[in-house]
Amino acid sequence: MTGHVLNFLGETKLELGAAQDRSGNWRTGRDDAGILWLALDKVGTGTNTISEPVIRELEAHVAAAEADLPTALVIRSAKTGGFAAGADIGALGDMAGSDGAGLLQQGHDVLDRIEKLRCPTICVVHGAALGAGFELALACDFRIAVKGASFGFPEVLLGLHPGLGGTFRLPALIDPVEAMTMMLSGKTAHTKRAKSLGIADEVVEERHVAAAVSAAAKGGLEKQEQGLKARAFQFEPARSLAARQMRSQTEKKAPIRHYPAPHALIDLWEDHGDDRAAMQKGEIESFTGLLKTDTSKNLRRVFFLRQQLRDAGRGDDGIAHLHVIGAGAMGAEIAAVAAIRGKRVTLGDVKNDPLGRAMKRTAEICEKQHLSCTETRDALDRLMPDPRGYGLGLADLVIEAAPEDMDLKEKIYGGLKGRLKEGAILASNTSSLSVDALAGHAPDKARFAGLHFFNPVSRVDLVEVIRGAETDDKTADRLAAFCGAIGKLPARVTDYPGFIVNRALMPYLMEAMVLMDEGVSKETIDAAALRFGMPMGPITLADHVGLDIALHVAESLRGTLDKPMPEISDSLRRKVDEGDLGKKTGKGFYDWSDGTPHPDSEDKGPKDLTDRLILPMLDACVEVLRKGIASDADQVDGAMIFATGWAPFRGGPMQYAKARGHDEITRRLEQLAKDHGPRFAPDKGWSDLG
Ligand code: NAD
Repeated sequence: MTGHVLNFLGETKLELGAAQDRSGNWRTGRDDAGILWLALDKVGTGTNTISEPVIRELEAHVAAAEADLPTALVIRSAKTGGFAAGADIGALGDMAGSDGAGLLQQGHDVLDRIEKLRCPTICVVHGAALGAGFELALACDFRIAVKGASFGFPEVLLGLHPGLGGTFRLPALIDPVEAMTMMLSGKTAHTKRAKSLGIADEVVEERHVAAAVSAAAKGGLEKQEQGLKARAFQFEPARSLAARQMRSQTEKKAPIRHYPAPHALIDLWEDHGDDRAAMQKGEIESFTGLLKTDTSKNLRRVFFLRQQLRDAGRGDDGIAHLHVIGAGAMGAEIAAVAAIRGKRVTLGDVKNDPLGRAMKRTAEICEKQHLSCTETRDALDRLMPDPRGYGLGLADLVIEAAPEDMDLKEKIYGGLKGRLKEGAILASNTSSLSVDALAGHAPDKARFAGLHFFNPVSRVDLVEVIRGAETDDKTADRLAAFCGAIGKLPARVTDYPGFIVNRALMPYLMEAMVLMDEGVSKETIDAAALRFGMPMGPITLADHVGLDIALHVAESLRGTLDKPMPEISDSLRRKVDEGDLGKKTGKGFYDWSDGTPHPDSEDKGPKDLTDRLILPMLDACVEVLRKGIASDADQVDGAMIFATGWAPFRGGPMQYAKARGHDEITRRLEQLAKDHGPRFAPDKGWSDLG
């Protein structure tokens, strides 16, 4: 194959065949074997997305191929980072307001023409092929996956379903139930699974791409035949039966009143699963309808909130070596996550057992994150148990994750004086102690701050970076950049009891317990929160967090806030005294011995139940804004969503307050204050919100 080029981008060499000439967002060229190479290289960005210009330009290349048929057509990405991340989400917003259906139809037409080309069409995928990127790959005859490639339809996470043919092409390619599960869950199929499902026809190393393409172009790859199951689903009764099951399972995780998209997808498949033309028409109509729903608008907003927080974590952290003090629930996972993301980590503890458990936990997290054997080995190599604290003098950042006890932390900080490397930062993972009070004991107040990770660290994206009164700019910037470097989302806040998240969450947990003391059942309370859209009811959440921790944080907030908080419930104190601390001891308010409880209740409880739980959270958010603890309403919404899973389809607490109306909420809080006490009195900040 002459004219074939290797593209040197960083360390990775991508086989781009003859795709040498850039025109717009594509690099193109025909090689000596007559194969037309189209490599997507979107202008001005490191990540390919499928936008209107990308499709328009693709149409011209397809037209050229129709006019002068190549031996084969190859589509791949010229970006080292991966194939394509899906549609341009900003542009989806524009589509909602314009002729979305027309634009979608244009995209469908191009993909249909690729499918009909009278030569083999081959998509080479490295990295992720998501959403519209995956749909482009599905329009080709063959998909060659480079090891590490993944395929997925995350549209449901944006309140949508696939809109460029995915709803009928994937069920036509693989087991339709597997296809529907992928689209309904938004879960990604990594290389091995993609191959076993039949999405990828072949898996190769990057250096074998040229040979694999050449073989596919010569007819050396067999097209997969659809199985018996797929044929059975051509019949409406079989689809209806499967659709009914899908509906009931989906309803449990994503109720139709909050998340219409997966339900619309099931309807589409049930109604038209045997008629491709009807499915295509239905997909376009349904997709454009979903774009206009509040759910999709809010979920797209959540996408941008994530980006904003991610942007706050850009920059150079100057941290190569991290030392963690305390290998308990938090320290172990902080160390694991940092080691996985390439930091050299030493982990200290006064006991040896937690260190052993931390290594085991790191291996488990690697497995959950689908890391290869080499990646897992490298991560474990980077993490060193360090009972004697040798790493302290080498570390650029020391994170203290010792038990929540001021005297203990003071003692630990005292022992650090004169031992830390020049310029090193000390940060505490405290969740309830004052960062300024802790700073008083730190070796250097300017290079001290709070770094509040949430439990479990490997799964919760948010980290609060708490700047004390004397923390310097550089330290705050480096800590935020450190969060970014280990894949977390930093919310930069100032010192305040509970910071943003626990400040807002505690009244919700405490009010739930007051309600329980009043005789409302825990199931009724949890079910009300779930109906509102919270991922977990407050009583289940308290059991999750640990009732001792919940009690400790509640006491500490009650002692420091100038606003009245709910009384600490008798049942909470009793549980803690009895040692029933929640999930970790197998029993709290719920019995966890048989797994996670699923509270359900027909009883709707008192009429003001949901408002009593939710409105104090909103009020606390307004308070942290008024006091300048959080920078703006978007940050508060992002923090609550990415730390607690706060009803994402509502766009966050501040967005919900805006949609419901600030005046309406203030009036409601005043009423609740009359009925139940001054803890509900609205914050003065409501009137500043406009
Ligand atoms: P933990 O009790 O699980 O672990 C603490 C570890 O520190 C233990 O392994 C203990 O042996 C070790 N330790 C005790 N004294 C030490 C010393 N002098 N030097 C080194 N190690 C020592 O506690 P945790 O839940 O991981 O909490 C740690 C910190 O994180 C606390 O400040 C807590 O408030 C905060 N936090 C906890 C959670 C949570 O949900 N658990 C969430 C956010 C923040």
